[in-house]
Formats: sequence, structure tokens, C-alpha cells
Amino acid sequence: MTLPSTYTDRNCSLARALEIVGERWTLLIIRDAFLGVRRFGDFATQLKIPRAVLTSRLKFLVQEGVLARDDDAAKGVEYRLTAKGVGLWPVVRTLMGWGDAFYSPTGVKRTERHDRDGGLLDHEGRCEDCGLAVPVPEIRIEPGPGFDPANSDRDPVSNAINTPRRLLEPIMAARTRT
Ligand SMILES: [Zn+2]
Repeated sequence: MTLPSTYTDRNCSLARALEIVGERWTLLIIRDAFLGVRRFGDFATQLKIPRAVLTSRLKFLVQEGVLARDDDAAKGVEYRLTAKGVGLWPVVRTLMGWGDAFYSPTGVKRTERHDRDGGLLDHEGRCEDCGLAVPVPEIRIEPGPGFDPANSDRDPVSNAINTPRRLLEPIMAARTRT
């Protein structure tokens, strides 16, 4: 299948990567997936994204192998990050850090800790307590000093992802059925 050629530099892997994750909303969907969002209705609630756009982005990410769609009827349809998708964590955390550095004067909005010992992660993703390069499922994310609850939505999905939690752990939000 021919992929859309949005960018012209065929010899740059950044251009190639942006064809997958460079569209509006895509990295926010991926961030939410890291924070444990798995269902269409929960992505829609949290992101307030037009549903047609969400449908299109999820379909594309599944097609590209970033997300896997699980159609288990008992639980309803879920979207989960694949290993390829989890490989985007350094991108997400680095962009978050850049946003904190330049657009969050009151401090980081989300803090990363090593879940096992509570150590803070440094800018390279190493635990300041034990020195381990902490794997994604062992990272605990929690509101930081720059997080302002007054600017946060109160829906169950937002409440869940703004509570200290390990990455990739599914949220237990009240279900918004689609
Ligand atoms: Zn540690």
C-alpha cells in the first residue's frame, strides 16, 4: 500500500515518523494510551476530539501497528499500545519536558517516579534512587508542582489519569459506552 506523502524529505526518518505521529491529536491519543485509556468512548471523553477524527486516527494507528485493536466481546473493543507504540514513550516524555521547560512556569505538570522505590526519574529516564533505566510499565506518573487541578476536567477519565498511576495500567473509569 502506498503511504500518504505529506513530507517531501524521503531520506529523513523524522519525516517518515511524522507521517505516522505528526497529525493533530495523534500524540495526545498515544499519551492517553500510556496513561491507561483503552476505549473509544474514554479517548473521546478525555480529549474532546471529534469522533470522526478519533475513528480515523485509531484506525490509522492500528494499521501502522502502533496500537492493537482487541475485539474481545466480553470487555468491548479496546486499543492498546504495541511494542512499537511503547517505543514512542521517549518522544512523549521529551515533548512533555520541553513543554514544562518553556510553557509551565510553576513547574512540571506531571512527575515520573520509579513505582518500586518512589525515586524520581531524571531527564534520561533513570531512577535517581536505584539508578535503573526504568522500563515503561514500572513508571509511575503523578501530578507535579505545575499541575493545576482548577484547569483539569472533572470527568471520570480525566480524574483517573490525573491520579498517581503506573503507565499502561488500564483506567477504571466509569464507562462511557459508545
Ligand atoms: Zn528506582
